[in-house]
Parts: sequence; structure tokens; C-alpha cells
Amino acid sequence: MESASDKHALERLGEVRANIARMCKPSRRKAEDVTLIAVSKTHPAERIIPLLEAGQRIFGENRVQEAQSKWPKLRDEYPDAQLHLIGQLQSNKAEEAVELFDVIHSLDRPSLLKELAKAMDKAGRRVPCFVQVNIGDEEQKGGCPIAELPELLAKVREADIPLAGLMCLPPSGTEPAPFFAFLAKLAKDNGVAGLSMGMSSDYETAVQLGASHVRVGTALFGARE
Ligand SMILES: *Cc1c(COP(=O)(O)O)cnc(C)c1O
Repeated sequence: MESASDKHALERLGEVRANIARMCKPSRRKAEDVTLIAVSKTHPAERIIPLLEAGQRIFGENRVQEAQSKWPKLRDEYPDAQLHLIGQLQSNKAEEAVELFDVIHSLDRPSLLKELAKAMDKAGRRVPCFVQVNIGDEEQKGGCPIAELPELLAKVREADIPLAGLMCLPPSGTEPAPFFAFLAKLAKDNGVAGLSMGMSSDYETAVQLGASHVRVGTALFGARE
């Protein structure tokens, strides 16, 4: 049976998809070229199932352990669901991440790259990775320093890790547009195609500025506890 909150989830999914399509229009992009990642972190399987039932197939989680506890079972039911890791990754979890995730958005340092390459060799599976950039040059934040980006990208290419694009999280409490535009410029300057940028509060701006992947949680599932 469908509950009231399931219905909300479907309405929200329709709204977010429509907003993405609307923001694609001015630049004549196709809505299908923007991948909507439904960020399901903290939400239990019964909140995720309505979106799967509605046809959403791409989901994001930020913690390896939480994803391990929820997704193997969901994937039995929905084998074509795809899981993206959007949170920071510790090097010692690289092997588990490579087993579980279809795309990793948080490759941000040479030591992690080394462990991911090793894990991919071992698993016999290449997992596309976004290189996360510390776009606001923030002390506490994950992400590759801007000055070190060309070198890290060269290493990714050398290690034969499929490069999905660049990812960023703009500093909170600031206008995100300049940071999205800067990430797009860095991608262009470095010959990288994909752009993972934009969350619930700013995905429309991100699409306008060229996002190929938006990571949307709250706007689909409601607030997290
Ligand atoms: C949680 C999270 C999101 C989604 O945030 P919302 O504001 O709920 O849409 C996107 N990206 C990352 C890296 C996150 O950790």
C-alpha cells in the first residue's frame, strides 16, 4: 500500500525532474544528459523503494558501511539500480567501495588513488571516479587542492581509472554559482567531461552551469533526522 509519504516522494521526484528539464532548456541541453542521483543516505529501504518503483535507478550514499547494510538486498529486487559513493572515502575502505559502488565521486588524493587502483585490479572491475576538488580552498574540507589537480588527473589517467569528471561541494553559506562556474572551467582546462555538482538547494543553478550529475537528497526524501 502506498502511504502519504510515498506519494510525496513521487511528487517530489516529478518536480525535481521537471526543474532539471526546465534549467536545461536555455542552453539547449537534453534533460536526459543530466543524471539525477537520489541521495538516500540515512533513509531506510522502505523510503527508497517508492522511488525505485517510480523508475529512479541511480542512488547516492555517503558511507560505505551504511550502503553495505541497505543495498545488497535492494539490488536483489532491483538489479539495475546503480549506487554512487558521494562521501569521503578512507583508503582502508577502498576495496569494499570498489565491490559495492558503480561510481565514486570522492577521489581526492594520490594515496586513495593508489588503493582504489589496487582494489580495482584485484576485483577485475574498473569503477569510474570523479575527482573531488576543494573548490573553495577550505581548510577542513575534503577534495584535491586546485593547484594539485593537474597532477592528480595525470595519475588517474596513468592508473587506468575511468575518469568520470570533477566533483565539488561549494563552501556552505555562500553563493554557489561562481564555484560551479569555476569547476566547469577547471574541467574544460583539463579536458574532463563530467561535472558532479549541485544539491537540493542549488541543483538548478548547477544544471544551468553545466552539471552532468546532480546529487539531490532533501528535495526528494524530505529532511534527514
Ligand atoms: C548529503 C549530500 C548531498 C545531498 O544533500 P541534500 O542537500 O540533501 O540534497 C549531496 N552531496 C553530498 C556530497 C552529500 O553528502
